[in-house]
Amino acid sequence: MRYRGTEFFCPICTSGLREFQPWKEAMAFRCPVCASKPPHRLAYLYFQKHPELFLDHEILVHIAPEPELRVWLQARCIQTGMRYRAGGITGVGDEYLDLRKLPFADRSIRLFYCCHVLNAMQEDRQAMSEIFRVMHPQGIALLQVPAFYRGETTLETQSQEERIAAFNDDGIVRCYTDADYVSRLHDAGFQVDYFRASDHPAEVIHRMQLKEEVLHVCRRTGPKTS
Ligand SMILES: [Zn+2]
Repeated sequence: MRYRGTEFFCPICTSGLREFQPWKEAMAFRCPVCASKPPHRLAYLYFQKHPELFLDHEILVHIAPEPELRVWLQARCIQTGMRYRAGGITGVGDEYLDLRKLPFADRSIRLFYCCHVLNAMQEDRQAMSEIFRVMHPQGIALLQVPAFYRGETTLETQSQEERIAAFNDDGIVRCYTDADYVSRLHDAGFQVDYFRASDHPAEVIHRMQLKEEVLHVCRRTGPKTS
Protein backbone atom coordinates (compact mmCIF):
# COMPACT_ATOMS: atom_id res chain seq x y z
CA MET A 1 0.00 0.00 0.00
CA ARG A 2 2.79 2.40 0.86
CA TYR A 3 4.02 2.26 -2.74
CA ARG A 4 0.68 3.07 -4.34
CA GLY A 5 0.72 6.34 -6.25
CA THR A 6 0.69 8.03 -9.64
CA GLU A 7 4.19 9.24 -10.49
CA PHE A 8 5.44 5.84 -11.63
CA PHE A 9 3.81 2.95 -13.45
CA CYS A 10 4.63 -0.70 -13.96
CA PRO A 11 3.16 -1.77 -17.30
CA ILE A 12 3.42 -5.49 -16.52
CA CYS A 13 1.21 -5.53 -13.42
CA THR A 14 -0.43 -2.16 -14.30
CA SER A 15 0.32 -0.75 -10.86
CA GLY A 16 0.42 3.00 -10.26
CA LEU A 17 3.32 3.66 -7.90
CA ARG A 18 4.61 6.41 -5.68
CA GLU A 19 8.09 4.97 -6.09
CA PHE A 20 9.93 1.86 -7.19
CA GLN A 21 11.80 -0.28 -4.69
CA PRO A 22 15.56 -0.03 -4.29
CA TRP A 23 17.55 -2.86 -5.83
CA LYS A 24 21.29 -3.43 -5.45
CA GLU A 25 23.32 -0.32 -4.72
CA ALA A 26 20.12 1.41 -3.64
CA MET A 27 18.91 2.07 -7.19
CA ALA A 28 15.13 2.27 -7.04
CA PHE A 29 13.80 0.46 -10.07
CA ARG A 30 12.20 -2.81 -8.87
CA CYS A 31 8.41 -2.98 -8.98
CA PRO A 32 7.18 -3.54 -5.41
CA VAL A 33 4.11 -5.38 -6.68
CA CYS A 34 5.39 -7.83 -9.33
CA ALA A 35 9.19 -7.52 -8.88
CA SER A 36 9.80 -6.48 -12.50
CA LYS A 37 12.98 -4.60 -13.34
CA PRO A 38 13.85 -2.33 -16.27
CA PRO A 39 14.87 -5.12 -18.72
CA HIS A 40 11.55 -6.88 -18.20
CA ARG A 41 9.51 -3.73 -18.65
CA LEU A 42 11.33 -2.87 -21.89
CA ALA A 43 10.82 -6.42 -23.20
CA TYR A 44 7.16 -6.15 -22.26
CA LEU A 45 6.87 -2.96 -24.35
CA TYR A 46 8.46 -4.82 -27.28
CA PHE A 47 6.02 -7.71 -26.96
CA GLN A 48 3.14 -5.22 -26.79
CA LYS A 49 4.40 -3.39 -29.87
CA HIS A 50 4.62 -6.63 -31.83
CA PRO A 51 1.45 -8.68 -31.39
CA GLU A 52 2.28 -10.44 -34.66
CA LEU A 53 5.00 -12.37 -32.80
CA PHE A 54 2.36 -14.50 -31.08
CA LEU A 55 1.41 -17.19 -33.57
CA ASP A 56 -1.10 -20.00 -33.30
CA HIS A 57 0.54 -23.43 -32.89
CA GLU A 58 4.06 -21.98 -32.86
CA ILE A 59 6.40 -22.10 -29.85
CA LEU A 60 7.56 -19.37 -27.48
CA VAL A 61 10.57 -20.37 -25.39
CA HIS A 62 11.15 -18.45 -22.15
CA ILE A 63 14.46 -19.19 -20.45
CA ALA A 64 14.77 -18.77 -16.67
CA PRO A 65 11.27 -17.29 -16.60
CA GLU A 66 10.71 -14.23 -14.48
CA PRO A 67 7.44 -14.73 -12.56
CA GLU A 68 5.89 -11.44 -13.59
CA LEU A 69 6.55 -11.88 -17.31
CA ARG A 70 5.74 -15.56 -17.17
CA VAL A 71 2.19 -14.87 -16.05
CA TRP A 72 1.66 -12.32 -18.77
CA LEU A 73 3.33 -14.32 -21.56
CA GLN A 74 1.41 -17.45 -20.61
CA ALA A 75 -1.85 -15.53 -20.82
CA ARG A 76 -0.87 -14.13 -24.23
CA CYS A 77 -0.05 -17.62 -25.44
CA ILE A 78 -3.41 -18.97 -24.27
CA GLN A 79 -5.17 -16.09 -26.07
CA THR A 80 -3.27 -16.63 -29.31
CA GLY A 81 -2.83 -20.40 -29.41
CA MET A 82 0.93 -20.19 -29.11
CA ARG A 83 2.66 -22.95 -27.15
CA TYR A 84 4.59 -21.71 -24.13
CA ARG A 85 7.75 -23.56 -23.06
CA ALA A 86 9.51 -22.19 -19.99
CA GLY A 87 12.49 -23.57 -18.14
CA GLY A 88 16.13 -23.41 -17.22
CA ILE A 89 18.85 -25.42 -15.53
CA THR A 90 18.12 -24.46 -11.93
CA GLY A 91 14.62 -25.83 -11.50
CA VAL A 92 12.80 -22.72 -12.69
CA GLY A 93 9.89 -23.05 -15.09
CA ASP A 94 8.24 -26.25 -16.24
CA GLU A 95 11.13 -28.21 -17.72
CA TYR A 96 14.89 -28.56 -17.89
CA LEU A 97 16.15 -26.29 -20.68
CA ASP A 98 19.91 -26.06 -21.11
CA LEU A 99 21.01 -23.37 -23.56
CA ARG A 100 23.99 -25.51 -24.53
CA LYS A 101 21.70 -28.29 -25.77
CA LEU A 102 18.10 -27.36 -26.37
CA PRO A 103 15.45 -30.07 -26.95
CA PHE A 104 14.10 -28.41 -30.08
CA ALA A 105 14.42 -29.20 -33.78
CA ASP A 106 16.48 -27.02 -36.13
CA ARG A 107 14.66 -23.84 -37.25
CA SER A 108 11.58 -24.63 -35.20
CA ILE A 109 11.20 -21.75 -32.73
CA ARG A 110 9.38 -18.53 -33.63
CA LEU A 111 9.90 -16.56 -30.42
CA PHE A 112 12.68 -16.87 -27.85
CA TYR A 113 13.13 -14.77 -24.73
CA CYS A 114 16.20 -14.99 -22.51
CA CYS A 115 17.06 -12.22 -20.07
CA HIS A 116 20.41 -11.88 -18.28
CA VAL A 117 21.47 -15.50 -18.69
CA LEU A 118 24.20 -15.37 -21.36
CA ASN A 119 26.28 -13.07 -19.15
CA ALA A 120 26.14 -15.73 -16.44
CA MET A 121 27.41 -18.55 -18.69
CA GLN A 122 31.00 -19.47 -19.41
CA GLU A 123 29.86 -21.02 -22.71
CA ASP A 124 27.92 -18.02 -24.02
CA ARG A 125 29.13 -18.51 -27.61
CA GLN A 126 28.00 -22.12 -27.56
CA ALA A 127 24.61 -21.00 -26.24
CA MET A 128 24.26 -18.33 -28.95
CA SER A 129 24.99 -20.92 -31.64
CA GLU A 130 22.50 -23.33 -30.11
CA ILE A 131 19.79 -20.64 -30.02
CA PHE A 132 20.60 -19.81 -33.65
CA ARG A 133 20.23 -23.49 -34.55
CA VAL A 134 16.68 -23.71 -33.21
CA MET A 135 15.44 -20.35 -34.50
CA HIS A 136 12.96 -20.33 -37.36
CA PRO A 137 14.01 -18.23 -40.39
CA GLN A 138 11.28 -15.73 -39.48
CA GLY A 139 11.78 -16.13 -35.75
CA ILE A 140 12.81 -13.49 -33.22
CA ALA A 141 15.19 -14.09 -30.33
CA LEU A 142 15.23 -11.42 -27.64
CA LEU A 143 18.59 -11.95 -25.91
CA GLN A 144 19.03 -9.40 -23.15
CA VAL A 145 22.26 -8.91 -21.24
CA PRO A 146 24.00 -6.01 -19.54
CA ALA A 147 26.06 -4.75 -22.50
CA PHE A 148 27.12 -1.38 -21.18
CA TYR A 149 30.69 -1.96 -20.08
CA ARG A 150 32.68 1.13 -21.04
CA GLY A 151 36.09 -0.51 -21.14
CA GLU A 152 37.89 -1.38 -24.32
CA THR A 153 36.47 -4.86 -24.37
CA THR A 154 34.16 -7.09 -22.37
CA LEU A 155 34.99 -7.45 -18.69
CA GLU A 156 35.45 -11.21 -18.22
CA THR A 157 36.09 -12.91 -14.90
CA GLN A 158 37.85 -16.23 -14.38
CA SER A 159 37.26 -17.05 -10.73
CA GLN A 160 34.72 -16.71 -7.99
CA GLU A 161 36.91 -14.09 -6.31
CA GLU A 162 36.99 -12.01 -9.47
CA ARG A 163 33.22 -12.32 -9.90
CA ILE A 164 32.58 -11.12 -6.37
CA ALA A 165 35.05 -8.27 -6.76
CA ALA A 166 33.72 -7.15 -10.15
CA PHE A 167 29.97 -7.73 -9.77
CA ASN A 168 29.33 -8.54 -6.11
CA ASP A 169 27.64 -11.64 -7.50
CA ASP A 170 29.44 -14.93 -8.10
CA GLY A 171 26.82 -15.97 -10.66
CA ILE A 172 27.79 -13.27 -13.16
CA VAL A 173 30.67 -14.14 -15.46
CA ARG A 174 31.02 -11.00 -17.54
CA CYS A 175 29.75 -7.55 -18.47
CA TYR A 176 29.89 -7.07 -22.23
CA THR A 177 30.70 -4.02 -24.23
CA ASP A 178 27.89 -3.55 -26.70
CA ALA A 179 30.25 -3.96 -29.67
CA ASP A 180 31.64 -7.24 -28.36
CA TYR A 181 28.21 -8.63 -27.52
CA VAL A 182 26.91 -7.84 -30.99
CA SER A 183 30.07 -9.27 -32.52
CA ARG A 184 29.53 -12.56 -30.68
CA LEU A 185 25.92 -12.68 -31.88
CA HIS A 186 27.11 -12.04 -35.44
CA ASP A 187 29.61 -14.87 -35.10
CA ALA A 188 26.72 -17.17 -34.14
CA GLY A 189 24.95 -16.10 -37.34
CA PHE A 190 22.47 -13.55 -36.03
CA GLN A 191 21.50 -10.22 -37.48
CA VAL A 192 21.00 -7.79 -34.59
CA ASP A 193 18.68 -4.82 -34.23
CA TYR A 194 18.06 -2.61 -31.23
CA PHE A 195 14.96 -1.72 -29.27
CA ARG A 196 16.09 0.90 -26.81
CA ALA A 197 14.56 2.53 -23.78
CA SER A 198 15.87 5.78 -25.25
CA ASP A 199 13.56 5.33 -28.25
CA HIS A 200 10.68 6.19 -25.93
CA PRO A 201 9.48 9.60 -24.74
CA ALA A 202 11.28 10.91 -21.66
CA GLU A 203 8.02 10.78 -19.70
CA VAL A 204 7.63 7.04 -20.42
CA ILE A 205 11.27 6.33 -19.52
CA HIS A 206 10.76 8.10 -16.22
CA ARG A 207 7.32 6.70 -15.34
CA MET A 208 8.33 3.11 -16.08
CA GLN A 209 11.94 3.57 -14.93
CA LEU A 210 13.34 2.00 -18.09
CA LYS A 211 16.79 3.42 -17.35
CA GLU A 212 19.20 3.01 -20.29
CA GLU A 213 18.03 -0.48 -21.05
CA VAL A 214 18.68 -1.92 -24.51
CA LEU A 215 17.01 -4.95 -26.03
CA HIS A 216 18.96 -6.89 -28.65
CA VAL A 217 16.56 -8.26 -31.25
CA CYS A 218 18.16 -11.20 -33.06
CA ARG A 219 17.01 -12.91 -36.21
CA ARG A 220 18.38 -14.99 -39.04
CA THR A 221 16.96 -12.82 -41.82
CA GLY A 222 14.02 -10.58 -42.60
CA PRO A 223 12.99 -6.93 -42.38
CA LYS A 224 13.68 -4.79 -39.36
CA THR A 225 10.77 -4.49 -36.93
CA SER A 226 12.27 -2.54 -34.09
ZN1 LIG B 1 4.85 -4.56 -11.60
